[in-house]
Amino acid sequence: MKCQVCSGNRLYTVLDLGHHPPSDDFLSDERLNKEEIFYPLKAVYCEDCKLVQLSNTVDPKALFTDHYVYMSSSNKVFVKHANMLVDRLIKEYNLKENDFVIDVGSNDGTLLENYIPHNVKILGVDPSSVAKVSIEKGIPTINEFFDENLAKDILKNHGKAKIITGLNVFAHVKELASLINGVKMLLEDSGVFITESHYLLDMVEKLQYDEIYHEHLRYYSLEALINLFKRFGMDVFHAERTQNQGGSILVFACKRGVHTIKDSVATILEQEKGLNTKESFENFRKRVNETRIKLRNLLHDLKSKGHRIIGIGAPAKSTTLLNFCKIDSNLLDYLVETNMSKANKYSPGMHIKIFDESEMVKDQPEYAVMLPWNIKDDIIPKIRNKGYKGKIIIPIPEPSVIES
Ligand SMILES: [Zn+2]
Repeated sequence: MKCQVCSGNRLYTVLDLGHHPPSDDFLSDERLNKEEIFYPLKAVYCEDCKLVQLSNTVDPKALFTDHYVYMSSSNKVFVKHANMLVDRLIKEYNLKENDFVIDVGSNDGTLLENYIPHNVKILGVDPSSVAKVSIEKGIPTINEFFDENLAKDILKNHGKAKIITGLNVFAHVKELASLINGVKMLLEDSGVFITESHYLLDMVEKLQYDEIYHEHLRYYSLEALINLFKRFGMDVFHAERTQNQGGSILVFACKRGVHTIKDSVATILEQEKGLNTKESFENFRKRVNETRIKLRNLLHDLKSKGHRIIGIGAPAKSTTLLNFCKIDSNLLDYLVETNMSKANKYSPGMHIKIFDESEMVKDQPEYAVMLPWNIKDDIIPKIRNKGYKGKIIIPIPEPSVIES
């Protein structure tokens, strides 16, 4: 077993979640009694480059990543975030007509469309089927994986870019070195690369162990990001913490020595001091196991009193939580989803039936567990508006109950 980035072999186990099915492999009636494949799910820490990562990676083809296509435009928080980020990039880097910008992992074009009123030259790259939505919006988009080879083509056809963004791509992409080499090749000398990832400090402090699933290959601290860019002759010159996905880190990187390193970098490094240590990971493991027991005890207790409990949502992260806590249909009667392609299927591993969201309003179970806890502020008012009157359980970090 070697580090995905530096090939080091001093890997320390942060959290071993056991064997889990692919997080988006929802089962139809026919597949319910057939064999399911479970893969090891273990986060390890590289003592050399400080990166937290999965110990082994699963073939992306086995992960059903394109079955339940996520559209950026469906996430209101992200839409606003992308809009503000582009406004800011235009001002800070004085982007003018015909300046060239690229978005890697451009999804449905939610970020890039903010440049359109400014006549900036835009290009999206996204390997998933959702790229066609972006193309329909009139955003030039290449429907492929971004790597060094594609970067060479882009360079030949479009030239170098002033700004390259890549939000939420660093955790997922398998060939990270090829991605960063491609970015570096395409950046103008003073160009800036902006990337955002779920932040390890939030994951550890807020016990977000359900962010660990096979699609997420790496979990970044700022220290690990700095080391990573350094390997490619680049500097992280600015960093900030954002609220996305329950806590993310946004970093600005450039070719070595081009931009002055801002105080924000030292400030955040100070905040994460002690994070990348065996003691901190040992403590994280202990607290994750405690919160798992508390959640199971709470559900068992309610069940023994005769209450009905269901789950709200079936996001990828819920597969980790349900399988790790061994929460099956004895504890949750069913799950509800607004994504119709998941309705009438069963959750991976735990086989809990999924219904359309209207079911919980008709049925009025006494308790409902909020599985996409990271967007609870967005979902709870919607569910209340639709007429659900029961109590809502927030599973993470400490299981807590919101009264009706
Ligand atoms: Zn390493």
